[in-house]
Amino acid sequence: MSRDKVQTPTRVTVNNAEQQLTIDWADGHVSTYSLDGLRRACPCAGCQGGHEQMGKLPDPEVFLVPPLMRWESLKLFPVGNYAIRFVWDDGHDAGIYSWERLRRMCPCPSCLEYWRIHG
Ligand SMILES: [Zn+2]
Ligand SMILES: [Zn+2]
Repeated sequence: MSRDKVQTPTRVTVNNAEQQLTIDWADGHVSTYSLDGLRRACPCAGCQGGHEQMGKLPDPEVFLVPPLMRWESLKLFPVGNYAIRFVWDDGHDAGIYSWERLRRMCPCPSCLEYWRIHG
């Protein structure tokens, strides 16, 4: 399996009712993230507590804990072909989520198990 396919989305769907974002990947994998988890995982320096923290991956727990907020109007904008920018209801737009990072954060049981062993 090529690394490219693993990090290439074919479809990105925001479901406000379910409070979920789903990414279909070119290799057939499907990732579903809670919106609130994605917000907690915002990679910008402000959310991550400083520039030195920016590269770090969030704790997978962010997707497992119950959401504190409902997000009703999340907007997504492509950044080149390597990332998307999320613009949240409150106007926060500093987070640029690379496809690589999103795939790495996939909270599905098989990915969590994979990274538990290989991480
Ligand atoms: Zn942020
Ligand atoms: Zn997964």
